Amino acid sequence: MKILICGGTLCYSHATFKADLLVVDEKIVAIGDDLKKHHSFDELIDAHRLLVFPGGIDPHTHMDLPVMGTHSSDDFETGTISALHGGTTSIIDFANQEKGGTLNDALDIWKAKASGKAISDYGFHLTITDLNERTKKEIPAIFKSGITSFKTFTAYRGSLMIDDKMMGEIMREIKALGGLVTVHAEDADTIEDKIREYKNAGLLTPKYHALSHPISAEVKAASRVMDLAYQNESGLYIVHTSAGDTLKAIQKNFDRRQRVFVETCTQYLLLDDSVYDQPGFESAKYVMSPPIRSIDDCKDLWYALRAGLVHSVATDHCPFHYKGQKDAGDGDFTKIPNGAPGVENRMELIYSEGVDKGRITLEKFVEVTSTYAARIFGMKNKGALDIGKDADIVLFDPSALHTISSSSSKQNVDYNLYEGQTVTGKVITVLRRGKVVVRNGKADQMEKGTGQFIKRDKFNFSL
Ligand SMILES: [Zn+2]
Repeated sequence: MKILICGGTLCYSHATFKADLLVVDEKIVAIGDDLKKHHSFDELIDAHRLLVFPGGIDPHTHMDLPVMGTHSSDDFETGTISALHGGTTSIIDFANQEKGGTLNDALDIWKAKASGKAISDYGFHLTITDLNERTKKEIPAIFKSGITSFKTFTAYRGSLMIDDKMMGEIMREIKALGGLVTVHAEDADTIEDKIREYKNAGLLTPKYHALSHPISAEVKAASRVMDLAYQNESGLYIVHTSAGDTLKAIQKNFDRRQRVFVETCTQYLLLDDSVYDQPGFESAKYVMSPPIRSIDDCKDLWYALRAGLVHSVATDHCPFHYKGQKDAGDGDFTKIPNGAPGVENRMELIYSEGVDKGRITLEKFVEVTSTYAARIFGMKNKGALDIGKDADIVLFDPSALHTISSSSSKQNVDYNLYEGQTVTGKVITVLRRGKVVVRNGKADQMEKGTGQFIKRDKFNFSL
């Protein structure tokens, strides 16, 4: 199948220019002026007045994740359908090792969740919760199979959290193979202490979830893990960075020339902590870890994106229905499942609030929604509209206005964090490895299970 995309503005992390683009089967094979003249094609897609982006990569999602006796409400089918509608053609989800279980068990479970269901392409970060002689031996083969990034936690004692000794050991093991360690950085002691304080005082509404996860807990854990990475000469990727003070702590490491990659998420850029002042239980919709911060933190994050201190914008997509899931914590914020939806809206929101409002350039948008994630996480066929790469392509109308609403959303969840927000710019058509999966905003060839596992390479990206 040959598809010619004609007359669009091709967008890269370093440039934008008008050109035609030819897709043959799954790959981009030609870029240039007036390709019609020299190439045959089966289908012509008119992209005049449209921007053409590389397919979005969301490096932080949780489909079908077991949490507090329930599961995140999007599985790999509904989750990737919504991702594709929003222009995200690849996700990296997390396979979590159970304490006492093996790493291969975790991967088998997550591969079974995704294969036969996913429609976007997908990879996995592997969460290590228990490194021992047995699990150590599993790592090299897992690495070779294309799982080259590993997640660690400084919080969630008893399930996900590991101590500094194990963290250092993991860094050394992964570094030796050429992989990257990622971290959820929040200090468990601080959080547990705050939770106890609020519970004892009978302060149990959702707002106290946010207050029990102070910025200082993020700064403390991020600083500690950066020190560990420095001592072990390991690279580090900090997920869902939410606050200006954390960015300042990260910046200090410039002095010692550390390789620290920083992720933030759409919600930390766009929302502020007034969301927790909503009446009743409504603010449970915003219960996530870390929580939404102040307007100044949003400003700091935008500045850091512009300045190159933040490298990727993810979503931490982990939805739970407000009715039937979140409400398990009505009366006790510690029982509210942590997480929120967002994979469908990331590209349009970051374009609208970032590029359209003049906060970031179009090139920066491409970089933080696609190119950098591909480079950092070893996805050599993704992340740019280059000849030879996968034809993951988004045609985008930069002037179309629309309003976000959960009623028209493809995400399997009964609310949207950005309900009622008007957005400038709309995903029109999406190709995933050369297949038109969204055409004029509507699902086209969305065949369940056609998403492929992304076999990732070593981490070799230098800033
Ligand atoms: Zn997460």
